Amino acid sequence: MIKKYIVAIDLGASNLRAALVDIERLKLLKKISEKTLVSKGPNIISDQVVNIVRKLLALTKVDLNKVMGIGVGAPGPLDLRRGGIARAVNIPYDFVPIEEPLKESFKIPTALMNDANAATLGEWLFGIGRTKKIKTLVFITISTGIGGGIVEDGRLLMGADGNAGEIGCLLIDYRGKLRCGCGRYGHWQAYSSGAGIPNYIKYLVESGELVIKENSLLFKMSNGLKNLSAKILYDCAKKGDADALKIVENLAVINAAGVGQVINAYNPDVITLGGSIILHNVELTLNKMIPYIKNYASNRIPEILPTPLGENIVLYGAAAVLLKEVKEYE
Ligand SMILES: [Zn+2]
Repeated sequence: MIKKYIVAIDLGASNLRAALVDIERLKLLKKISEKTLVSKGPNIISDQVVNIVRKLLALTKVDLNKVMGIGVGAPGPLDLRRGGIARAVNIPYDFVPIEEPLKESFKIPTALMNDANAATLGEWLFGIGRTKKIKTLVFITISTGIGGGIVEDGRLLMGADGNAGEIGCLLIDYRGKLRCGCGRYGHWQAYSSGAGIPNYIKYLVESGELVIKENSLLFKMSNGLKNLSAKILYDCAKKGDADALKIVENLAVINAAGVGQVINAYNPDVITLGGSIILHNVELTLNKMIPYIKNYASNRIPEILPTPLGENIVLYGAAAVLLKEVKEYE
């Protein structure tokens, strides 16, 4: 029987998504999504991953015989030898088994990769790499954290331990006041990621660099700066709040410094950006940072655009990882 489909899974700390991907048409056919049961423990998460595959197959009435395999993109760090997640920041368990429960339940090939690297491979195979002739592609995601991946001639740059794309830990402030999730100071994602933005705003206010007026929309919407979030900041900026716009401008400079370093290190033809902060605020993030990049990049500035795969990029990535793994063993 011809294997026509891949089941792709995007396992995030907030949402678990599964999709059926048509291999011939390189197209995502049907997607389902539910809240990830993170607080329930590692085995419940493993079961939830198995169950969402069952639900997807039942819903689409696709026979398992027609499925080439199951690809999973998940937040790192991963333990690839054991096939699971090992102490990810927002999935804080020693080990969450992913591949073994899937193999036991469905007896078809499985593949697992960290979400940002998987997304980059997805961009190469299904996204911008399909429509453009590219030698070196970098994908950058800005959401709760900042991550990315580098593909050259179809091959993902892995690094000795599989952690080559950890660009969220690039240094953008050597006198850094803000602490990154990795424990070090001055790293890019400590400032302009979803987790970093509230701390960055507090830092600006406490250091006296910025005075936020009490009658400003940002002050009111954040309950006197007590409930700051990236979403509140960008929503206020969209409504023209002057304080929010000042912060957004600062963040654009920080992001330009990060992207500039990526350009210096990898000399890509194309950079695509994704992640919720970028995708919901293209004008205020991507378009605002572009004029500043020349201050940081010594290499030629490549084409920089939002990913055409949007919020489905990790699902496409999971499919790409499975496809690559199966082909390597053929
Ligand atoms: Zn870091």
